[in-house]
Amino acid sequence: MQRSKDGTLKNAVRLHDGLILESVLIPTKNRTTACVSSQVGCSLDCVFCATAALKRMRNLNADEIYDQVVAMDKQSKLYFKRSLSNIVFMGMGEPLLNYKNVLLAIDKITDPDGLAMSPRRITLSTSGIPKMIKKMADDKVKFDLAVSLHSARQEVREKIMPFANKFPLNDLSKSLAYWYQYTKKQITFEYVIWEGINDKKEDIHALIKFCHQIPSKVNLIQYNSIDDPSFKQANNSAIALYMNVLEKNNITVTFRRSRGKDIDAACGQLANKTQ
Ligand code: SF4
Repeated sequence: MQRSKDGTLKNAVRLHDGLILESVLIPTKNRTTACVSSQVGCSLDCVFCATAALKRMRNLNADEIYDQVVAMDKQSKLYFKRSLSNIVFMGMGEPLLNYKNVLLAIDKITDPDGLAMSPRRITLSTSGIPKMIKKMADDKVKFDLAVSLHSARQEVREKIMPFANKFPLNDLSKSLAYWYQYTKKQITFEYVIWEGINDKKEDIHALIKFCHQIPSKVNLIQYNSIDDPSFKQANNSAIALYMNVLEKNNITVTFRRSRGKDIDAACGQLANKTQ
C-alpha cells in the first residue's frame, strides 16, 4: 500500500499466479470511493494511458474483483472510520471486455449477504463498446454508466484511442441512446483536454453536438503525466473556455482534480510501478 499526501491509498495486490492488480481508495470529506480494476493490464490501446503499455495479461475473475472491494471496504473503515460509499470501475482494464465477471462481482457487492451496497453508488466506466452498452441495457443493470470520450471527432478519437476505428462515434451514440431509452439513466462523459490535441473550438462544438444527442453531463478530468511529452494538459484558459461554452449550451460540466498523483494512483497512471 502507498499513501499519497492527499490521503489517497493505492494498493498493489499479488494474485495467486503472481500477477499484480492495482486498486485505489479515494477519500473526500463525505465519501470514500474505491477505484476498482477489472483486468490485469488492458486489452485496449489508449495512447495516453500507462495501463495500456502492460497489455492485457488476463481477466480478473468475479471473486478477485469482489475481494478487491471487500479489502478496500476494510481499509476505509480502518483509516477513515466509515464503509465504502462509492465504487467506480475505472482502474486497470476495460470492464466491458470482462463483462460476465464484472456483473457477477457487482451482484455480490449489492447482495444483502455481500456488501449490500446500492447499485446507484456504483459506476462502470467504459471506453465505449457499443454492442456491450446495448447488452447492459438489455440486462437491465441498475448501476451508472460513464464513457471515456475525450473527443467527439472521429479522426481525433482514433488518434488517441486507436481501437475507436472499430467503434465509430455514430455507433457509440446510438448505443447510448438505447441505454438511456431502457435505463433512463443519464450518461457521464469523462474528458481530458490536451494541448494541441482537442483544445480547439471545433472540438468543443463537436462535443456539444454529441452531448445534445443523449441526456448526459461532462466531467473534465485533470491530466496525469505518464512521461510522454506528446500529452500535455491544456492550459487553464482552454479548460475555462470548454466550461463556459458547454454551460452556455445547457450542458452540465464539472472539473475533477486528480488525486494520488504523487504515487501514480491517478486516472491513467496504473502501471504496476510498485513491482
Ligand atoms: S484508459 Fe482504460 S481502456 Fe484505455 S488503455 Fe487505459 S485502462 Fe484500458
